Amino acid sequence: MSIAVAIDGPAGAGKSTISKSAAKELGFIYVDTGALYRTVGLAASRRNIEPVAGEEVNNLLESIKVELTFNDKGEQVVLLDGEDVSAFIRTPEASMMASKISAIPQVRAYLLDLQRNMATTNNVIMDGRDIGTVVLPNAEVKIFLTATPEARATRRYKELVEKGMDVKYEDILQDVITRDYNDSHREIAPLKQADDAVLADTTEIDLQGSIDLVVGIIKERM
Ligand code: C5P
Repeated sequence: MSIAVAIDGPAGAGKSTISKSAAKELGFIYVDTGALYRTVGLAASRRNIEPVAGEEVNNLLESIKVELTFNDKGEQVVLLDGEDVSAFIRTPEASMMASKISAIPQVRAYLLDLQRNMATTNNVIMDGRDIGTVVLPNAEVKIFLTATPEARATRRYKELVEKGMDVKYEDILQDVITRDYNDSHREIAPLKQADDAVLADTTEIDLQGSIDLVVGIIKERM
């Protein structure tokens, strides 16, 4: 039987970096579900579709193909109609588009099986917003990873500056606050800690400390 670890939490809590390292250490596959929402968001922007529910979104979903694959380094690659779009889905604009599109019920339903299928045949660490509550409610381990908005904005800011992007801290903080609000106030699958999830707050902990904390929680429960 495969083991599933669900890691949920707000934007910038370090979910992907921490989950990736923990998966490596434990020999699990890491699935970043945010990349799927970002890819659907990208498809909508490329077709100039406003991210609101309706016929246009149905048509969009019927006409695109989103696939989740892994490269030879074991890293996740998301394909949109066969194209590797990894380079286009990490901008602040794509983040905001993903946050908007993810509130649309048809989009969430469209991506559900794709996510669940990954966990049926592999030991996975899957991160997102609703993994412990909706996608994998029976996950063996559930962790809710969080940090203050300021700590999360600071990390995201440094990350983007290191990538050479011209961004302002205040804008990033505002994006974090807006996305937190959107993600936790939407009607369907809002961001929320599952009743049986362990809370891990990384505000005062550095990256290695956070990885050790998460790996420790997983090992304890396996
Ligand atoms: O995790 P990441 O920041 O890449 O996610 C981008 C957006 O996708 C989030 O702001 C959230 O709105 C949405 N998302 C979601 N459910 C998930 C993963 C991401 O709604 N499981």
